[in-house]
Amino acid sequence: MPQTAYSHIIVGGGTAGCVLAARLSETPTNTVLLLEAGARDWHPYIHMPVGFAKMTGGGLTWGYSTVPQKHAGNRRIPYAQGRVLGGGSSINAEVFTRGVPADYDRWARDEGCPGWSFEDVLPYFRKSEGNTALADRWHGTEGPLGVSSIAAPQPMTRAFVMACQQYGIPYTHDFNGAAQAGAGYYQLNVVDGRRCSAARGYLDPARGRANLTILTRAASERLVFDGHRVTGVTYRHRGQLRTAHAESEVIVTAGAIGSPKLLMRSGIGPGDHLKSLDIEVRADVAEVGENLADHVNIDLVAELRSHESLDKYRRPHMAAWAGLQYALFRSGPVASNVVEGGLFWYSGEDRSNPDLQFHFLAGAAAEDGVGGVGPGRSGITLNCYGLRPRARGTVRLASSDPDAPPLIDPNFMGHPYDLETTVRALKLSREIFSQPALARYVRRVVLPDDTLRTDDELRDFVTHHCRTSYHPVGTCRMGSDDESVVDTRLRVRGFDGLRVCDSSVFPSLTGSNTNAPTVMLAEKASDLIAEDAACS
Ligand SMILES: Cc1cc2nc3c(=O)[nH]c(=O)nc-3n(C[C@H](O)[C@H](O)[C@H](O)COP(=O)(O)OP(=O)(O)OC[C@H]3O[C@@H](n4cnc5c(N)ncnc54)[C@H](O)[C@@H]3O)c2cc1C
Repeated sequence: MPQTAYSHIIVGGGTAGCVLAARLSETPTNTVLLLEAGARDWHPYIHMPVGFAKMTGGGLTWGYSTVPQKHAGNRRIPYAQGRVLGGGSSINAEVFTRGVPADYDRWARDEGCPGWSFEDVLPYFRKSEGNTALADRWHGTEGPLGVSSIAAPQPMTRAFVMACQQYGIPYTHDFNGAAQAGAGYYQLNVVDGRRCSAARGYLDPARGRANLTILTRAASERLVFDGHRVTGVTYRHRGQLRTAHAESEVIVTAGAIGSPKLLMRSGIGPGDHLKSLDIEVRADVAEVGENLADHVNIDLVAELRSHESLDKYRRPHMAAWAGLQYALFRSGPVASNVVEGGLFWYSGEDRSNPDLQFHFLAGAAAEDGVGGVGPGRSGITLNCYGLRPRARGTVRLASSDPDAPPLIDPNFMGHPYDLETTVRALKLSREIFSQPALARYVRRVVLPDDTLRTDDELRDFVTHHCRTSYHPVGTCRMGSDDESVVDTRLRVRGFDGLRVCDSSVFPSLTGSNTNAPTVMLAEKASDLIAEDAACS
């Protein structure tokens, strides 16, 4: 039976939760409880880089889908979010990017978040990063979040990077350096052939501390209040409802879907919505669950003439061979994260910062809901999205039942700009696939096939095939205005002893994948918590 009183309770053992549990338990006088709804990160797929391709559906996720998407063919679109220790960082594609300085300068200058400019956050990126290849002003080498370059890119990934250069896009060795634009190989959160999730990089070294308690399969149901002070959390563990008390703070890190869900279940959210579900309103905060932003993605899938991609390892004897190579040497196809090739580029004439990101996958049908090339055949995939979409959506409760999945409405293609940008990205994908380095391998592009030529046809294709890039942010927005959910020290407005410290507080999307920015945010949060404790 765990103790019931702690100095800090962290709700959600995902990317941010693991960082905070590790950092806060470095202070011996803190006693920290980390509650994670999912299981321990024991599943072997988590640790093999290629496991990403097996985990975008199934038991390590929450199994969410969106509500019917009004501007995307009225489809319910699968919406994978991690439900396991490490959260997204245990199931993601391990791609290590963090956007451009202008993203954070926009947070600080235009979006009411002084203290979060690039120069403010760069020290936290550097502190978190354990890069094994790059060591300059932009990179840290001693941090817990392991980062490495791909030792042996797949042949099709090499062909992709060459095709980009044949099209006229320069090669870059670093998407997180002085210039983001270019084509190359992603750096990965992989160390010695194994995924470096936040659970592995941060939590594992802290596990033995007497002042850190980690409970998995422990889903928080609501916050506990004493007036406007948050004093604890109720959670379900081994079939029983329990309460843990927080003497100092409750820190919500349940992710961009889970955090607004927990706040709303606890009575903090849009008053009318909560009343309609018979939830007592503690604070009518209109923006909880608003402002949902995500990168909306479109895939281009091609069938190869022969079996040059990772798809050949679907055959049992090839899979056995690849498994043996990995077991013996930690190398080969199992050590590939599939999503090896990267490209940041421009949709138009504005060359200030790239507004498109592409991921090249040396295989087809790697992700839940994405089309393949048919049994016994091999394929490749190029997915792309606009980096700064303009549509905003919502997260709402479906009912007061804590187990009911929330209503997730990312409002894909809800702004015309997003549709036009995605169509441009798709056209660029086609151009790249037609360059000699790739064209010689491609039998035919199956999605979208060649019969779709006009802009209207491509718009229709995008509308009916777009999907999530797994980067939801913004549903507990940080800002200086009274409407923002948390202030710039990540304290929930109107309450004492309560912060939200995860991707849900991003005021807007960074022009990148979102794991490294979330790690940075949690690193800075741990300093803010320590500073505030020292002042109180
Ligand atoms: C399939 C996939 C692929 C991705 N690929 C990449 C990539 O290659 N590179 C990259 O940079 N980013 C990637 N991302 C995004 C990145 O992983 C996320 O942005 C990041 O993990 C967000 O961190 P977080 O702490 O905000 O939330 P999460 O990591 O989602 O953590 C939230 C945690 O809280 C738990 N939780 C929720 N509700 C409760 C509750 N009531 N009680 C207890 N626990 C709760 C969840 O189970 C989860 O473990 C990907 C994400 C996914 C899902």
